[in-house]
Amino acid sequence: MSLHINGIAASSGIAIAKAFRLENPELNITKKQISDVDAEISRLDNAIQISNTELEKIRDHANAELGEDKAAIFSAHILVLNDPELVNPVKDKIKSENVNAEYAMNEVASMFVQMFESMDNEYMKERAADIRDVTKRVMAHILGVTISNPANITDEVIIIAEDLTPSDTAQLNRKYALGFTTDIGGRTSHSAIMARSLEIPAVVGTKEVTSKIENGVMVIVDGLDGQVIVDPSEEELAEYKAKKEKFELQKQEWAKLKNEPTVTKDGHHVELVANIGTPNDVEGVINNGGEGVGLYRTEFLYMGRDNFPTEEEQFESYKTVLESMGEKPVVVRTLDIGGDKELSYLHLPKEMNPFLGYRAIRLCLDQKEIFRTQLRALLRASIYGNLKIMFPMIATLDEFRAAKAVLIEEKEKLVAENVKVSETIEIGMMVEIPASAVLADVFAKEVDFFSIGTNDLIQYTMAADRMNEQVSYLYQPYNPSILRLVKMVIDAANKEGKWAGMCGEMAGDALAIPLLVGLGLHEFSMSATSILPARSQMAKLSKADMEKLAEKALSMSTAEEVVKLVNEI
Ligand code: PEP
Ligand code: MG
Repeated sequence: MSLHINGIAASSGIAIAKAFRLENPELNITKKQISDVDAEISRLDNAIQISNTELEKIRDHANAELGEDKAAIFSAHILVLNDPELVNPVKDKIKSENVNAEYAMNEVASMFVQMFESMDNEYMKERAADIRDVTKRVMAHILGVTISNPANITDEVIIIAEDLTPSDTAQLNRKYALGFTTDIGGRTSHSAIMARSLEIPAVVGTKEVTSKIENGVMVIVDGLDGQVIVDPSEEELAEYKAKKEKFELQKQEWAKLKNEPTVTKDGHHVELVANIGTPNDVEGVINNGGEGVGLYRTEFLYMGRDNFPTEEEQFESYKTVLESMGEKPVVVRTLDIGGDKELSYLHLPKEMNPFLGYRAIRLCLDQKEIFRTQLRALLRASIYGNLKIMFPMIATLDEFRAAKAVLIEEKEKLVAENVKVSETIEIGMMVEIPASAVLADVFAKEVDFFSIGTNDLIQYTMAADRMNEQVSYLYQPYNPSILRLVKMVIDAANKEGKWAGMCGEMAGDALAIPLLVGLGLHEFSMSATSILPARSQMAKLSKADMEKLAEKALSMSTAEEVVKLVNEI
């Protein structure tokens, strides 16, 4: 009989395929005395050869799908794997001590890792991570243990994982990874956001898919209703194939609105733009009729690699996005690292509360060289399109002023070097900390625009970690407290003749859209796949009616009451 598992609908669509468990196996390495040295050395050589082929495949795939910058890490791994300074000592150890290959490899690897980690040189320290990764792969092959790698998949599958890191998700090939489901995570965890930009159906936060689903079992991921069906019956398969077809037809209907403006029934225009993580996502924005980019999460440029992207690499990425979008606005958010977005090579100490800690603008204002490199790349790219820059996690006016001052300093330096920089870059901020929402009237005098980041604004207002599904009931975008904060920001912007957008997931939420139209939000930034459904929905709403609706909602007591009110229309 089939098994139904409930989770959080993280990315819409239906996917049907066999399960592929993505796991990082623990390797059990023990010391053994061996008698046949040659046989042991050929076990080692064999494992190195398999690892080589595997890494080349991963690198080529990353190169084709994600670009050279993401592929670079795998080229580095291949170099490590083929370095005689690593391999020869392992062979020597097997020969001189008559020990097994995996043990010898582990000993030599640990020695190198320790040596590199203790060096007073960032570049060398980073090599330790490469050695650890590569040698783990080789040892897994010596032991005959499979290492799963999302970029390695060459069959149509549904990925089953405890969690997917953003870089795991970035490596998914949507030709083969038809859908995914995880034990942990919520709608606003970054794997969910990436799934939407890759247009892969996903159900997250199920708590139990990894304990209930074996490799190779048929699985349906229903990203519309947040259900995973394991080993479906013939009837269920037919039912979900029909549901999938219906969804595809609906998508075709939406596609007709691709080149239409976004206007309400009574002629009010809003801007519908998209959230992106990499230049590759721009194609999806254009295909889905996006009127611009409302949030470019630049941190993905820094992730899934083992050192900082150079100014030149960043410049190329920003230029690509700006050029591809032409005259359309592109709002780039400066580096927002921390929380669930870790950077191994930054070597940040573990924090008790990473979401409340040293992250985003706090880190950038402290480690200014990182910030300056990014700002220079952005400023240089600014002449290729319609760039707007915003700072994440602004809590105080001083932080905004300090960030803006660094930006202006870098601009002046470039101008002095005769580098061309656009004169019309708007400078804004994310409103994702309650303190800045409450003080929006003050900020509005100094910023060019606001972009409300509800994913964080809700977690901070409700004091509920967005990654913790035990408290996910507190992710309440319709709670009147959140609506009132949103209203404060929009009203403050209006009063100063500035604009207010929203780039948190709430902006693309069909239940929130009527309220946000009523509150007068100017710009809605969402996953590209939500744009056409949102445009279709807005065409059916009257701004005047939504204003009344929003006013009523603001005076209600609970999120449930607001949901009921919106559902009535
Ligand atoms: C937000 O917090 O709403 C936001 C858009 O930023 P991120 O999800 O990247 O934290
Ligand atoms: Mg945020």
